[in-house]
Amino acid sequence: MTTDNKPDTLQKFMFDAAPVRGELVELSSAWQQILARRDYPPAVQNVLGEMLAAAALLSANLKFDGSLVMQIHGDGPVRLLVVECDSQLNLRAMAKIRDGESIHDGTPLKQLVNLHGQGRFVITLDPKEKVPGQQPYQGIVPLDGDSVAVVIENYMLRSEQLDTKLWLAADQHISRGLLLQKLPKEGGVAVQMETSEHLDAWDRAVALGSTLSQKELLSTDIHTLLHRLFWEETIRAFDPGHPHFHCGCNREKVGGMLKMLGREEVEEALVDLELLEINCDFCGQQYAFDKVDCAQLFASESTVDNVQTPSNVKH
Ligand SMILES: [Zn+2]
Repeated sequence: MTTDNKPDTLQKFMFDAAPVRGELVELSSAWQQILARRDYPPAVQNVLGEMLAAAALLSANLKFDGSLVMQIHGDGPVRLLVVECDSQLNLRAMAKIRDGESIHDGTPLKQLVNLHGQGRFVITLDPKEKVPGQQPYQGIVPLDGDSVAVVIENYMLRSEQLDTKLWLAADQHISRGLLLQKLPKEGGVAVQMETSEHLDAWDRAVALGSTLSQKELLSTDIHTLLHRLFWEETIRAFDPGHPHFHCGCNREKVGGMLKMLGREEVEEALVDLELLEINCDFCGQQYAFDKVDCAQLFASESTVDNVQTPSNVKH
């Protein structure tokens, strides 16, 4: 592999002569760390890896400090896929497969997660610092498309009114993706006219991207891809970013989760168990809570709720 010693990379670029922006992402180390913790069937690996690349590509556009969470709630053998990327390009991901399901190699997305048409695709934008009472923004749509890329393209067009094209590929070694997006028209008086030249430029960029096969995407590093695809265009490349695996779980958050379950449920579980052991689904870290820990959780409830929100929160 040519990518073994290189850091994972997210490369943003702009077309000089067209209102089109692009990004390429290459995830090797982060993807390996995610896979090292779980033994997913290859078909699930492919979908999760493609979602991971997509989350990194979309999060590069976040206009706030926080996370982008992408979920597929499946009605087939795969129950749940979750990928998360924050503004610092910290990535984590996990999949949950229904008990007793065996998944063949090459099983298509629809059969994995949308067997009965009940699958859902959810994007959550979760700012780190929320104003009091603020809920994270969440968009939920049916799983409209035969690939992760098409599902997201449809979502972006419908929910964000953004023309977006994605090419994604992942195997057990690497996850790569290309994003092209037509820049929205500027508002105000000096409206940029959508000239036929600009429309041509978008169509041309998409046509160039469409020459990319999954095989080529899996086997070619992103700098070579950028040159190979767009060598006839004048491209401005920005300083690359470096995504990495990081799980932000901690004891406090797991405690918060237990509190949400409610005192009654937790006490009931502790009747049969000496210790509640909770494993983080993303990184495998184990957290144990005994009776005393749990009693403390609920005893401290009132004081925690009274904590003032920081005064520097922007409205
Ligand atoms: Zn964790």
